[in-house]
Amino acid sequence: MRKKANIVVIGTGGTIAGRGETASNTSAYACSVLTIDRILAAIPEVSSLANLRAEQLMQTGSENFNNEHLLKIGKRVSEVLKDNDVDGVIVTHGTDTIEETAYFLHLTLKSVKPVVVVGSMRPPSAMSSDASLNLYDAIAVAIAPASRGKGTLVVANNEIHTARDVMKTNSFKLEAFRSPYGALGYVAEGEPRYYRMPSRDHTVLTEWSIDRIEILPKVDIVYAYGALGEEVIGTVASEANGLIYAGTGNGNVAEHIVGPLVAATRQGLHVVRASRTGNGVVIRNGTQPDDDYGWIVVDDQAPQKARILLMLAMLSNPDKRCALQAAFYRY
Ligand code: ASP
Repeated sequence: MRKKANIVVIGTGGTIAGRGETASNTSAYACSVLTIDRILAAIPEVSSLANLRAEQLMQTGSENFNNEHLLKIGKRVSEVLKDNDVDGVIVTHGTDTIEETAYFLHLTLKSVKPVVVVGSMRPPSAMSSDASLNLYDAIAVAIAPASRGKGTLVVANNEIHTARDVMKTNSFKLEAFRSPYGALGYVAEGEPRYYRMPSRDHTVLTEWSIDRIEILPKVDIVYAYGALGEEVIGTVASEANGLIYAGTGNGNVAEHIVGPLVAATRQGLHVVRASRTGNGVVIRNGTQPDDDYGWIVVDDQAPQKARILLMLAMLSNPDKRCALQAAFYRY
């Protein structure tokens, strides 16, 4: 019989740590109230899968997570992974921004050990809660040798997603998580089954190590619509080093916004054209002359993930726009 794996479960809050007044409260409940020990104690089946060690790193809804939270989670996961006795790490997390934290870990951890970020759409107290099964499945994924070297994974609703692609696409349904090119695999009866591999560089192949990052540059997102006031660009440019422009359609920029955006770019702001559709490729020099304006295009990343990547890319290349563009095509 194979020796049981040693898995560390790091709690950060979210719905998976939530509690409603009644079982019918599937969407209205107190978030981030159950400790990670209590969450695990309610699923006795998990102890048959692995030796678990739980720790409470924070206890808050992921809508509050800022760059300091990302760094805190990343540094702790990295520290835990360095322990030779640890085979994998689970982070329990709110679902709202699970994709951003997971992508940050995917790009900055230097380990091939499985790291799985997991949350739930319904609190453990609700009817048909997904909390227990998602966590059980996450542990099943973390102990599987097949999960090594695949970067950070997000497990939800019997599916295994790569952190690069997954997005929360629904505000309340259980089947909220989607990857535009499909999940990497399923978890069936506690067994992960992989059908795809992540194709872009991650973890040990990236240029960033969480151990060496102390601060992240400020990057903001502007959501486009025709009536957007041009003064918004100046306000962002006065504080941030980078701007993700979540344009309409193929990263389109309204005529009255082009001037202010070009002016801000000339003064040093890095501008990335993304799409508020959250899907599909933004074509370089397609609807805008990106070469002339000094703009970067997002490739296929959603604005919230583009923010993570631009922050990291600016650490390595604060001034070289071609290197920033290359990062969007590499990761
Ligand atoms: N507000 C919660 C969070 O992201 C929602 C959830 O966990 O599903 O922390």
